[in-house]
Amino acid sequence: MVMTVIKQGNPPLEKKWKGTCSSCRSEVECLGSDITNFEAGDYRSLGPFSWETCPICGAQMCFQPVKDKEASNHYKLNDTLGMDYV
Ligand SMILES: [Zn+2]
Repeated sequence: MVMTVIKQGNPPLEKKWKGTCSSCRSEVECLGSDITNFEAGDYRSLGPFSWETCPICGAQMCFQPVKDKEASNHYKLNDTLGMDYV
């Protein structure tokens, strides 16, 4: 089979991931490389997700990749902060 990539996407495990614990309400961010239970999801679901252990209370919490728009805002914020400190 010959495959041609007509549009390259961003592999979800190269993004940042974020989860909110339904038990203690902590919000946690991690790298895709820290995700241990990656599920690609399917067309009925909201996309990729993973269950990880909450670092605060130990409950299982759902992580999803941070959306591209959200992530770029975050980086912009960091850039701005970085310039302020220079
Ligand atoms: Zn928790």
